Amino acid sequence: MIRHFIQKYLEPKALVLMYHRIAAPETDIWDLAVSPANFEEQLQVLSRTGEVVPLHELAARAKEKRRRKHLIALSFDDGYIDNYETAKPLLEKYRLPATFFVTSCNLGTEREFWWDELENLILHAAHLPATFVMKVKGVLIKRDLKQEAELSYELQQQHMHWKACLTPPTTRRSELFLALWTAMRALADSEIQQLLQQVRDWTKSEAVNRPAYKSMSTGQLAELAKQQLFAIGAHTVTHPALGHHGFDFQKAEMAANRDLLQELTGNRISLMAYPYGHYNADTLQAAEAASFDAAFTTEGSTVNKRTHQYRIGRFQVNDMTGAAFAKTLQKWALT
Ligand SMILES: [Zn+2]
Repeated sequence: MIRHFIQKYLEPKALVLMYHRIAAPETDIWDLAVSPANFEEQLQVLSRTGEVVPLHELAARAKEKRRRKHLIALSFDDGYIDNYETAKPLLEKYRLPATFFVTSCNLGTEREFWWDELENLILHAAHLPATFVMKVKGVLIKRDLKQEAELSYELQQQHMHWKACLTPPTTRRSELFLALWTAMRALADSEIQQLLQQVRDWTKSEAVNRPAYKSMSTGQLAELAKQQLFAIGAHTVTHPALGHHGFDFQKAEMAANRDLLQELTGNRISLMAYPYGHYNADTLQAAEAASFDAAFTTEGSTVNKRTHQYRIGRFQVNDMTGAAFAKTLQKWALT
């Protein structure tokens, strides 16, 4: 038992880090944004380790028998504009490689992803009608916002500190948001967009496109892909929770995204990440059938010779200082 533990402790580890946005938004309920200052401190820590390699290299070498060194790889999901404007220059400054998993439906448009717009509509609107009624796939979502129809300073503060991924909702608005998000996430994008329009109509507002929430342009994507340090990976066309859909739908989402990214970058797209980390047995087969070399989840686990090639875990990096990040990295290496 002790021998096993020591061996596990000494064994060189391979771990993949997952980022989404390098930004400091007012609210970040999914804990997805790392501020530029903290990101730079994290890169300084990573740079000192001398262990950062491109993701495709980690995926190929994680199973080597006589590897002496730890391996760390960086990945970014979704394709937000800040990946190009903020993360890219900092990664170049420290000469650290990264892979960007890009959802293609919003590339080169002003549109926000549906989850960002829904959050904005429900949590940030100054006034909302007091009663909400909507049917999602035959299930009635009915809520009374009462005094929360008006956005107070206290309510704003509560939403600023709410982490939907860690704690249950504490306000009527956040409870409504989470009910809608949960119901909508299981659907195909065409249905999600119809429901989002109903929510917009209910709030009596137009689609608001905040510039900081848009995706990269196709030119920026191509420029990113051209750099030796960077690679582009697949993240589906519309970001569905794949495990809720059939094999053919899943494979089509993967293949269409892959083909478009290949056309825009001129590079082979060999890796993919599952949106929301959501998958089922069909997803693993679809990723293989779509000719990806490896695919990544959001389960925090290191990569070793027993890891399934289409179910490689990643650790989500939160907004923390370099010192906190260094400690967290050590903790992750032991899992
Ligand atoms: Zn994603």
